[in-house]
Amino acid sequence: MQIEKDKVVTIDYTLKDDNGNVLDTSEGGDFAYLHGARNVIPGLEKALTGKSSGDVLNIMVTPEEGYGVRDPERTHTLKRSMFQSDEEIEAGMQFYAEGPDGQLVLVTIISVDGDAITVDGNHPLAGVNLNFRVEVKEVRDATTAEIQHGHAHAPQRRSEDE
Ligand code: ZN
Repeated sequence: MQIEKDKVVTIDYTLKDDNGNVLDTSEGGDFAYLHGARNVIPGLEKALTGKSSGDVLNIMVTPEEGYGVRDPERTHTLKRSMFQSDEEIEAGMQFYAEGPDGQLVLVTIISVDGDAITVDGNHPLAGVNLNFRVEVKEVRDATTAEIQHGHAHAPQRRSEDE
């Protein structure tokens, strides 16, 4: 069966940056998603279209088709008093903040200089070339519930309330 819209696709994948660092992996466990429902980044979905079970792909996804290019406008320097937390604030910490449209944005603290805290609201993988090795394990028709929900359900739990 070929991968197309409304198929549930199970893959094993490893994601590396251009320096060979592993950014993410399904760790030999299977990862299932609903094709055509934007469950995965556009570049990955595009490369998998038309493939079938048993295919192994090496895919290079550019930031434009991945997590976007870095936007310098999303870097801000804030006063420490804007942080309500009593926690020690250190570079590398991540938290969710409300974005301009009210949506939650993952923000990373990139530097702390006295009372000046610089944060970056870009996705941590924005601007990064994504090198995937993907093995297609299974392709099946999505259930009606999966298509309605817009995501894949685990095989052992196909209840409507998932
Ligand atoms: Zn569901």
